[in-house]
Amino acid sequence: MHAVGIVAAAGSGLRLGADRPKALVPLAGRPLVAWSVDTLLGSGVGEVVVAVPADELAAFAAVLPPEARLVAGGATRTASVRAALATVAGPARPAPDAVLVHDAARPLTPPEVVTRVLAALAGGAPAVVPVLPVVDTTVSVDGDGLVTGALPRETLRRVQTPQGFARAVLVDAYDRLPDGVELTDDAAVVRAAGVPVATVTGDERAAKVTVPHDLAVAEMQIRR
Ligand code: C5P
Repeated sequence: MHAVGIVAAAGSGLRLGADRPKALVPLAGRPLVAWSVDTLLGSGVGEVVVAVPADELAAFAAVLPPEARLVAGGATRTASVRAALATVAGPARPAPDAVLVHDAARPLTPPEVVTRVLAALAGGAPAVVPVLPVVDTTVSVDGDGLVTGALPRETLRRVQTPQGFARAVLVDAYDRLPDGVELTDDAAVVRAAGVPVATVTGDERAAKVTVPHDLAVAEMQIRR
């Protein structure tokens, strides 16, 4: 199966308190995005398209391997993935069977997660996401912060990346998504188009780096 990877790396470093795009923040001396690209390239994905902030193309090119092709991302994650997806196939580029979309902000995702996603696609799933159970009691709240109800955690899952899709399914779903609708992941985009999304087991090490504490945990993970 020919799979191409998309790495969404065009976010800001705001919540991390960083002075640069989050994907360029170093983890054990290497930018987060370099770790994430390596995970895909080391797990059977031969080519990776990276969506980066439009004014940072040179800075990203300097830290990524030649197999990574850079495109200017957008103001939202949805716009960034849309921009990268538009370049996955073309006259000079045979269309891959599958596309894996990964967050640059999940630098320590183990290769086994990628392998499980690829296996589900090879088995015929049109869309697949890695998930983990929810261990905390999970509630909804109103505008004043008062608890309004508890959600049955047995049926809840935390969704990670890389998320895998048959290429035609993902392209069609993005085509149908109206401009201006912003979703937080790609499984939501294909679900909006009525596509069933399968799940495989994720991994705690694929956690997303969002706030400074997450970076400290990732550094510890590497030391172990
Ligand atoms: O903001 P959040 O942590 O949910 O972003 C998830 C991923 O989406 C990050 O890797 C980030 O770089 C990427 N992103 C993007 N373009 C944006 C916003 C976020 O590629 N405009």
